[in-house]
Amino acid sequence: MRIILLGAPGSGKGTVADRIEEACGFPKVSTGDLLRDAVREGTPAGLRAREFMESGGLVPDGLVLELLRERIARPDCAAGYTLDGFPRTRAQAESLDRVAPDAAEVVFEIRAAEATLVERLAFRRVCPTCHAIYNMKRKPPRRDEVCDNDGTPLEHRPDDRPEVVRRRLEVYRELTAPVVDYYAARGVLHPVDGDGSPEETYRAVRAVLDAPSAEAKR
Ligand code: AMP
Repeated sequence: MRIILLGAPGSGKGTVADRIEEACGFPKVSTGDLLRDAVREGTPAGLRAREFMESGGLVPDGLVLELLRERIARPDCAAGYTLDGFPRTRAQAESLDRVAPDAAEVVFEIRAAEATLVERLAFRRVCPTCHAIYNMKRKPPRRDEVCDNDGTPLEHRPDDRPEVVRRRLEVYRELTAPVVDYYAARGVLHPVDGDGSPEETYRAVRAVLDAPSAEAKR
């Protein structure tokens, strides 16, 4: 089964995907994490992606699709996976249908107010090693600014700074919001409220996944 999480930056997609992975074993496949790893490792894809990411724009479809295709072909994705940050354009949604056409799909749109998103991104810190997500206000690490899992110093992503966040939100409204309509037309879209706690959002997602119609797709 393929679970797709749509939602603006800061809506909670990554945190929900982590919870699904813990509970159901479907790995989180985050194109943002794949791209950041490629940038850090200095691969040809990373070198090309870097400037798009720093400006808050989208990386060209072909480059993202190649990374995604490789990731979902690995054995841990065979039973199912959760996509976080893909598809981000209608063209990407159509490509996904071509690349992996048979997957049963459940799609969530996590909706949150802009003020919530901006605040969360300002307080977000991430672990560059294991990709764990923290919030310095609501879910701080046990020790100051290092990851609970592996002790790596946490990062405030450069694109989580307010000037880049504004651009990322615009890009979401312009290019990614139409993807919501794409899946709504197919009857697989479930809107969930992302303004509450991560626990509340996850519970709403889980209720849909546990419903008999979703169970049948597994
Ligand atoms: P994220 O971690 O999902 O917020 O992604 C961080 C950045 O990586 C985005 O602002 C884009 O520059 C790039 N990115 C991630 N996923 C995609 C995608 N599906 N298509 C194009 N660019 C992407």
